[in-house]
Amino acid sequence: MSINIAIDGPAGAGKSTIAKRLAAELSYIYVDTGAMYRAMALYFMERGISASDEQAINDLCEDIDITIAYEAGEQQVYLNGANVSDRIRTEEVGNMASLTSVYAKVRAKLVELQHALAKRANVIMDGRDIGTCVLPDAQVKIYLTASVETRAKRRYDELQAKGVSCDIGKIERDIEKRDYQDMNREISPLRQAKDAHLVDSSALDIDEVVSAIKNICKEKNLI
Ligand code: C5P
Repeated sequence: MSINIAIDGPAGAGKSTIAKRLAAELSYIYVDTGAMYRAMALYFMERGISASDEQAINDLCEDIDITIAYEAGEQQVYLNGANVSDRIRTEEVGNMASLTSVYAKVRAKLVELQHALAKRANVIMDGRDIGTCVLPDAQVKIYLTASVETRAKRRYDELQAKGVSCDIGKIERDIEKRDYQDMNREISPLRQAKDAHLVDSSALDIDEVVSAIKNICKEKNLI
């Protein structure tokens, strides 16, 4: 049986950085489920579909084929055969993903793919509903969070380092809006699973978070 580690939490909590590091150290496959919702969102955006048009989104779901490949250890997302891994990283695509991930049809399509990936390998999967819905039997569940101020400051520093000018107040407001949408939707809202370990990274650096999660895995005799 494959070993599954689920990491859920709000936008900007550092899930992907931590999950990538852990996957490399433990030789697990890292599955970034947010990237799948982003790829679907990109498809809707490119066709000028409004996030509120559920009928159009349902119809388009039939035309979308998302596949995941691993190239040099990195997850690549293919949307109808085209590698969109770089194009899905913008704030616009993230916001559209948050608005369109509320729909049952969008979620059903991606959850099926996520199940298939988790069945065939040891995975560290991150997202919003992994411990609660996608992998309820995951051997380790982590709810990784940090204060809104910390998450906004990290994003601000990241953008500054890339030379992108930005307003920290706006970043904070966007994060709060995304948290609200993800935590208050009807289907699979972002919640800490009952059996998930809470890790608050506000006062921790990457190494400290990685070692906290590895300690949890050790306690369970998984490593
Ligand atoms: O984690 P990331 O910012 O890439 O996710 C983009 C959006 O996709 C989230 O805000 C959330 O609405 C949605 N998502 C989801 N369930 C997941 C992963 C992401 O609903 N498992």
